[in-house]
Amino acid sequence: PLRCRQKSRDFQRPVSSSSGLMRIADLLSNKDAGFSFEFFPPRDQAGVDLLFHTVADLAAYRPAYVSVTYGAGGSTRRLTVELVRRIRAETGIEAMAHLTCVGSTRDELASVLDQLAEAGIENVLALRGDPPKGEREFVPVEGGFAHADELVAFIRERHRDFCIGVAGYPEKHLEAPDFAHDLGMLRGKVQAGASFVITQLFFDERDYFGFVQRAREAGIDVPIVPGIMPITNVSQIKRFTAQCGAHIPARLLSRLESVQGNAEAVRAVGVKHAVMQCRELLGQGVPAVHFYTLNRSTATREILRELRCGSTPT
Ligand code: FAD
Repeated sequence: PLRCRQKSRDFQRPVSSSSGLMRIADLLSNKDAGFSFEFFPPRDQAGVDLLFHTVADLAAYRPAYVSVTYGAGGSTRRLTVELVRRIRAETGIEAMAHLTCVGSTRDELASVLDQLAEAGIENVLALRGDPPKGEREFVPVEGGFAHADELVAFIRERHRDFCIGVAGYPEKHLEAPDFAHDLGMLRGKVQAGASFVITQLFFDERDYFGFVQRAREAGIDVPIVPGIMPITNVSQIKRFTAQCGAHIPARLLSRLESVQGNAEAVRAVGVKHAVMQCRELLGQGVPAVHFYTLNRSTATREILRELRCGSTPT
């Protein structure tokens, strides 16, 4: 049976800390964690309104938590803290802020972390971030961090109670010379204080299972949550996968290309594939599934309905 929280009568939320906060690592240790949704900070007010519609649509599915990414620019960065605070306050759903090392000194990162703590947010996904557009190599700012492990250690030192997640790459990070090197670096992030991993998107579950097995062999024993992106647009997914080093299996790609001009048909192919991936993953007992929603609810709702996870089918 699929492990959807609404279906499980026995599901019990782990006891929250004395502050009322919920650590994502604790949620993931519950066998019925279910799923989470990732959003990004919109550029304008219309985007914020759309995001909150999406959050309301998806809140009905009772995610274990939601997360908000950290942008490359100043204004969207400030929005991350505001959005996680607002989502948590308005929906009661646990929220996690992503944080990157891009363009920030330690003092600037410390200030964001302090704002999160003040806003009652204690879950953080610690990332290095990508090089700015047009640049091939990540160059840390003076007084900043070169890699996510340094950010993890910094957070651990400054806010001992924070629950820290990090990124993992089933198909290897683009810059890593090989799998072994990349896994060694992931182990370093866990040793620095991360207590769970969320993976980069992938479209072949075998990549995820192989990654988890290699991670376990390398001594990485924290939950590794698969990241699933429902495909809704062919050129967009080609761009994303090229940027992050994931591959689209040939059969899936040809099915997508055969309906490329028809947005609904593309979404149907994307949803069907994601449902198939989720069934396989949940059937094998993954800790949870993390959906990259791109701030839209339709595809994710269709997937959850198909998996019979929804409490309010529409
Ligand atoms: P790192 O862990 O630092 O790894 C980067 C590269 O350096 C890898 O090749 C690794 O093998 C190597 N490496 C790691 N540590 C060391 C070390 N100590 N010494 C030498 N080499 C090392 N980007 C955003 O801008 N904002 C977001 O909100 C965001 N959210 C994301 C969420 C998820 C779940 C994922 C999977 C990615 C996200 N990203 C986000 C993208 C991420 O920033 C990029 O993938 C980035 O290129 C790498 O980030 P990292 O934290 O994995 O870096």
